[in-house]
Amino acid sequence: MDTVIIGAGASGLAAAIEAAGRGSVAVLERAPRVGRKLAVTGNGRCNLTNLNMGPEHYHGEEPDFVLPALTAFGVGDTIAFFRSLGLITVSEPSGRVYPLSEQAGSVVDVLRFAASEAGAQLRCGVCVREIRPEAGGFRVISDGPELHARNVVVSAGGAAGTVAGGSESGYLLLERLGHTRTRLSPSLVQLKTDNSFTRPLKGVRAPAAVRVMSRGRTVAESSGEVQFTDYGVSGPAIFEVSRAAVTCPDCVICLDLAPVTGFDELADMLDARRSAHLTAENLLTGMLHNKVGRTLVTRLGYPLAAPVSTLTRADTDRVARAAKRVELRVTGSMGMEGAQVTAGGIRTREFDPATLESRLVPGLFACGEVLDVDGDCGGYNLQWAWSSGRLAGRLGDRP
Ligand SMILES: Cc1cc2nc3c(=O)[nH]c(=O)nc-3n(C[C@H](O)[C@H](O)[C@H](O)COP(=O)(O)OP(=O)(O)OC[C@H]3O[C@@H](n4cnc5c(N)ncnc54)[C@H](O)[C@@H]3O)c2cc1C
Repeated sequence: MDTVIIGAGASGLAAAIEAAGRGSVAVLERAPRVGRKLAVTGNGRCNLTNLNMGPEHYHGEEPDFVLPALTAFGVGDTIAFFRSLGLITVSEPSGRVYPLSEQAGSVVDVLRFAASEAGAQLRCGVCVREIRPEAGGFRVISDGPELHARNVVVSAGGAAGTVAGGSESGYLLLERLGHTRTRLSPSLVQLKTDNSFTRPLKGVRAPAAVRVMSRGRTVAESSGEVQFTDYGVSGPAIFEVSRAAVTCPDCVICLDLAPVTGFDELADMLDARRSAHLTAENLLTGMLHNKVGRTLVTRLGYPLAAPVSTLTRADTDRVARAAKRVELRVTGSMGMEGAQVTAGGIRTREFDPATLESRLVPGLFACGEVLDVDGDCGGYNLQWAWSSGRLAGRLGDRP
């Protein structure tokens, strides 16, 4: 065999399609079918890339490590590549790109068809245990037949998303060959917080501006939808700041629940409402999600049945201040199980960014999440999988 690819996920399938043009390829996948994680991405819709691309959306010890791969196979190449496979994509105003079918399964299918068409052998239900260097290449030891390969590409993914097949297997395979890894932590993950405010709002989604404070310093900001849960907070705006909230000490999430209204304007709107024939239950109606408004009013100690006319301007100012800043102490995250991506991984300085070949073991390549590269929420992780997979699949040929 010329090349053995370990893992038939996003990056492994991309690598297989590229490598198949250079010789014989076997892709070993331990799950019963290819692209298991890919099939659940983007809530089943697969946010496969983002039109607003750049190295600033990537993290790790060497964020610029992604540049050669993103240059060799960028967003335009990705969209054109999928179109050439018969997959039509559409973009949202945010820049996120999805298949028109809105089915992540169709992304898996076209990649599977293309890899097979190119001549790659896809062998599912085969878990690789060890990669052993030997004369002229490697011996790949798995629970299937042993294989000899001139090149090996490790595309075994990261530890995040354990239900969808995330594991530490790829790190262990590479560590046995002398590679080292940085600390792993969950990213793009739901946050556990002090839940006295969030629990009564379980299931409610509301727009908010989100700020993460660590020991008095702002360490991350986002805006968008926040989902309240019985353990804390979730939703796209939380995922965006979760990396900082998990890695920085003593974090507090500050939510501005009236993100498009300044404090003075909100305070004046609430003051005007004091003359209405309403109870406090409806003080914030139309300004905030109704349930969020009622929870806020109750939290401040005002009975919901009290006529708004009994509130003073100082009271309504207090409500406005609370709407503009709800503080939730971060106590943890939902861990690798709930995370979409792993922050940390195999050290990138041990690989040549122009080829993704190991600097320690010639003929060994790695791509995707197993490396210490993690992207922001919005299609950046899959773009890294496509770009790095295609580059690794060139087996050392420089673009
Ligand atoms: C719920 C969820 C939603 C997501 N949504 C998005 C999204 O919309 N957009 C986005 O950009 N990113 C998203 N991501 C992240 C994205 O899916 C990953 O970053 C991406 O799949 C990583 O690609 P990969 O090829 O490195 O790993 P994977 O796609 O995880 O593939 C690795 C493969 O290797 C196999 N494997 C592992 N060890 C072995 C072994 N020893 N032998 C044989 N096979 C092995 C695994 O079974 C797996 O199939 C999401 C992740 C999750 C969990």
